[in-house]
Amino acid sequence: MKRGFSVLAYHMVEPRFDFGITRVTPAQFRRHVRLFEDLGWPLVRLDAVWKADDQPRLAVTFDDAYLSIYEHALPLLAERNWPATVFVVAGYTGRLNTWDVNLGGLRFPHADWPQLREMAALGWQIGSHGYSHRYLGFLSGSELRRELEDSKALLEDRLGVRVTAFAPPYGRISRRVLEAAAEAGYTEIALLYASQARSVFLQDGVAVIPRRTVYLLDAVTIVRGKIAGGALVQRFFDLTQAVVGLGSRGSILVQLFQTKVWPAVRRMFAQ
Ligand SMILES: [Zn+2]
Repeated sequence: MKRGFSVLAYHMVEPRFDFGITRVTPAQFRRHVRLFEDLGWPLVRLDAVWKADDQPRLAVTFDDAYLSIYEHALPLLAERNWPATVFVVAGYTGRLNTWDVNLGGLRFPHADWPQLREMAALGWQIGSHGYSHRYLGFLSGSELRRELEDSKALLEDRLGVRVTAFAPPYGRISRRVLEAAAEAGYTEIALLYASQARSVFLQDGVAVIPRRTVYLLDAVTIVRGKIAGGALVQRFFDLTQAVVGLGSRGSILVQLFQTKVWPAVRRMFAQ
């Protein structure tokens, strides 16, 4: 078990309104960058963060690889020569996030290949967030391989980098999916709803790394607590994250309905 590190999970750094709470505004992100400077923890990629020595380290990760990350987060981090880790939905590069539950018709674009290449050239770690942002727990063996293996192969081919990290869509992973990810050649799995207190654990040669999500309503002191808070503070965030996790189960259920239940009902009536 290793300690002395922290991994933050962002989604959008977006000025436009969104119904979700995983967006932060560019102004908020700017304040977070100042906080990272104040803390003085070196910012490293996910593949380096958990191999920490005595000095604590911080990794900043971005799920979904939105264009807003390229526009609003990358310049602030690049100015300071800080790398980050971005988890790309391989089948949606340069496209709108039509995989997401659509509230109010709002759509957000993903970064395209040249923008991802630029990130890689700046030393950012490119990880996979699956091929089509499906919840992996429902998938058959061949569907699961497509999400794990095809996304990795496509990213490696188009970006010329090795892809060793995987962040499962919706932040959770089952033992079956973990084994499939190890088989696909991933060596780091980044989760959302795992307890920070457990720190990193190794399973089947894969490092399973919990992260703290940063939410729209988090004040800077909360973000500081998420990074550097003591054991009690971390217990508190474990609890709040578990509550928020219930909401993500809602998204998973909507997806189950849209991809499995509804097509089955339609087939039944088409006969
Ligand atoms: Zn995602």
